[in-house]
Amino acid sequence: MQPTPDTHGPFGRVVTAPEDSPTPASSTWVTWLLFMVPLCIAELRDLSEPDIERLSTWAADLIASHGDDAQYGGHHQRSARTAIAQGLAVLARADGGVTALGIHACMRPHVGAPAPHPPAPPLRNTRNEMSESTKSTGRTTPKRLLTQNSDLRRIGVFNWTLPAFVIEMPDGSHFNVCPQAGVCAQLCYARVGTYRFKNVRAAHIRNLLLCRDNPEEFERQMTEELRHKRYVDKWIRVHDSGEFFSDEYLLTWMRIMRSSPGVRFYCYTKEISRFKRLVVNDAPDNFLWCYSLGGKEDHLIDVSTERHADVFPDVEALIAADYTDQTESDLLSVLSDSPLVGIPANRIPHLLKKQGSETFGSLQRARDEKLRAKKAVAGQKFTLAH
Ligand code: SF4
Repeated sequence: MQPTPDTHGPFGRVVTAPEDSPTPASSTWVTWLLFMVPLCIAELRDLSEPDIERLSTWAADLIASHGDDAQYGGHHQRSARTAIAQGLAVLARADGGVTALGIHACMRPHVGAPAPHPPAPPLRNTRNEMSESTKSTGRTTPKRLLTQNSDLRRIGVFNWTLPAFVIEMPDGSHFNVCPQAGVCAQLCYARVGTYRFKNVRAAHIRNLLLCRDNPEEFERQMTEELRHKRYVDKWIRVHDSGEFFSDEYLLTWMRIMRSSPGVRFYCYTKEISRFKRLVVNDAPDNFLWCYSLGGKEDHLIDVSTERHADVFPDVEALIAADYTDQTESDLLSVLSDSPLVGIPANRIPHLLKKQGSETFGSLQRARDEKLRAKKAVAGQKFTLAH
């Protein structure tokens, strides 16, 4: 594939494919792709040509093998959906673009390009469906604090989300939502893709402002919301992204959990010392958690006995390491027999490339080792100087 100017602009041109085109798709899926592929095109613009070459082969295989999973569900749905949008974005760079799964995407004008279609209807973000109502004032206010996407709905889970890692707040200040994040921050799925969409970021920052700056009101609203019958016997995942950034915030959640005995809660966390100090000996009955590797406190986890999750490059790697695959249900992170929980990395090409064949745990160990060696050398220099 030759590097050629993207004369349709940074988002390329992505339109509905003619009805008689190969590999047609459901209208929901087409709408999602019309929304997602231009963003992937913009995101992948800076990849080198050899990477593009390699990804093109991977993308064609993926669309052929998992196109149906992505549309209609199945074991690979979650990973396949985003990966396919990225795959189409890569294939759009070829001369004549790509026509597949109900859309046509290209970067430059070419013979036989489909005619423009009317603008697609606004799409809900499938990862974080923030329910909102528009008041007569024209202002939108969140109707619910908890959200649910199709993957979570399938397993009866609702979700509370914050922004990931260090973010700029509306007043220009910066705040670290994940104080113990380590290597994970460089490989975090919640810092790329749909999480960077303006509306998604705004919803997550709104959540953060509520629970950080007005904890009593957050506790009141969340406790009130959890009284609704839709949550009876359901699970709440505390944080799709973000963390228990302070003692006060964690204790607030523990009070909310105790006030909601008919609801179950779970989380992944890298706040190991905070949990060992505040939760382990005083956990609400309806709360389960899974430590998560890739943070600055990994060394505090006894990986032979304590439940923990590691992110592997793929399912094969986690099975080879004797970890339980949680792809089928995220609840396996806290309900699986084995305390060793394996998560296949999201199919985001530049993050996969960065991770290589390592896991978050092994990358963090290497980083910790490097830091220890650096400190030892600095210590030696100090001793010699005195
Ligand atoms: S702790 Fe989680 S949300 Fe925060 S940076 Fe790491 S992976 Fe992302």
